Amino acid sequence: MPMQRRDFLTRMMTGVSVLGATQLNAQWITAPPYIERAGAPHVGKVLAAIQPHADDIALLCAGTVAKLLNEGYTGYMIRATNDDMGDEVGDPGTPGENVYRNEREVDEQTRVLGLKKHFSLQYPNHRMSDVSRNELICRLIFLFRFLKVDTVFCYDPWGHDEENPDHYVLGHCVEAASWMAGRIHDYPEQIAAGFEAQTVKDKYYYARRPEITRVVDISSTVEKKIDANLANMAKGPGGHHGSRLRAQLAKEGKKLPLLGDDDVTADRNYIREFVLEPSRVLGQKYGLQYAEAFHYLGPMANAIETPTRMDEYIRKNAVPLR
Ligand SMILES: [Zn+2]
Repeated sequence: MPMQRRDFLTRMMTGVSVLGATQLNAQWITAPPYIERAGAPHVGKVLAAIQPHADDIALLCAGTVAKLLNEGYTGYMIRATNDDMGDEVGDPGTPGENVYRNEREVDEQTRVLGLKKHFSLQYPNHRMSDVSRNELICRLIFLFRFLKVDTVFCYDPWGHDEENPDHYVLGHCVEAASWMAGRIHDYPEQIAAGFEAQTVKDKYYYARRPEITRVVDISSTVEKKIDANLANMAKGPGGHHGSRLRAQLAKEGKKLPLLGDDDVTADRNYIREFVLEPSRVLGQKYGLQYAEAFHYLGPMANAIETPTRMDEYIRKNAVPLR
């Protein structure tokens, strides 16, 4: 059913304002974070871009995922839900249609970001509160061992102001699986089947607040982030909103120079101006063109398993037996 113009523009503006509320607000960062710039060598490492829904990676960390792939990582997409509640603003569709559209669109995001494969775990959308967390943890452990994952992206398990249970349930299960995958007594049948224990060492939790410890410069991969949001049509605030707005304004005899003279330019520039505004505002705070923010946990987060201090203590204090 065609929408009335006022309805269309109101919905679009609502989409943008909701986006502003759910993405990081740069004002929440108080302590100076570490600034991760382009250029670190990561050849041979593996990342998993893990999201509950079709739009989370594209909106919150696609620039950083693309940056690490440019620096030598191999990557995989893992999506936890089937996105059956994930409809399009102005074109709701049925839950069944949503499943199909989002599946295809995450396949396309996987392709444009340069990730190798999309693993979809197919839990019901918005219903992850009562899934078996041990089953989900076991599935993630299997994937981390099978794919030899060094680095994960997911929602911060400890983020505040979170409305969506899929976000925090998945975040907690990723945190648990990252640790347990490295322990041979957890799911030993996987070890017996030939998989090696695999601790996930770097965790980029796409944070909202309160704890932002790392800001990543994504200026070199901002076009990839636009590609991912362009593919995210059913759920995202990007997709074809720009060309629709251009067509709507043309019916009224108006145009926005921002939207150019063709649909591709309209879609990309709309995403650049409105969807990427939080990345631009965050970047400006740190002298960068575009940036993304994380609660980052690196190898030292598991300090109890890192014996450097004990080695140093033994070196300084050990004496001969007699
Ligand atoms: Zn989500």
